[in-house]
Amino acid sequence: MLTIAKLDRYDLVNNPQDKTASFTIWFSGCNFKCKNCYNDILWDKNKGHIYDGKFIADVVCNMCNQLGVQSVVLLGGEPLQQDRQELLLICKRFYEAHLKIWLYTGYEFNEIPDEILQYVSMVKCGRYIDELKQDGFPASSNQKIYKHIKYSDKFKDVTKHYTKI
Ligand code: SF4
Repeated sequence: MLTIAKLDRYDLVNNPQDKTASFTIWFSGCNFKCKNCYNDILWDKNKGHIYDGKFIADVVCNMCNQLGVQSVVLLGGEPLQQDRQELLLICKRFYEAHLKIWLYTGYEFNEIPDEILQYVSMVKCGRYIDELKQDGFPASSNQKIYKHIKYSDKFKDVTKHYTKI
């Protein structure tokens, strides 16, 4: 099961790559508890709604199809602290539906399982460190942004591109 705080079917903020609308899933639960986290309201997994992964995949794919939305953003909370098999299921379904996936995670890039990465187009990773706070995106200077290189299993560090925006 997945624990979700909110679904945003037309999010204009969290896909800075394409600057187009995304369907965003706000997961509940994060045990990193970074100081001055922008979303501490989502730390508690018990405050989310519990959904079956297949149901969420059906809803999101149908809504994206209806609305012409071409990307899905996974954030929270911490997406990678959800049920791994359910998370994998929805990522696979989005990938097969040709939806680009943005993953926002507090884990470092090398901690993200390959089975998830294979479906993801863009990753923002690393904890938020308040002492390294910076203007713009990402929010702290230790965090990195990686782009999946097409037709390969490799990712490229594109953080500099975003910090200049
Ligand atoms: S990893 Fe993200 S959601 Fe979790 S505490 Fe840190 S900033 Fe907040």
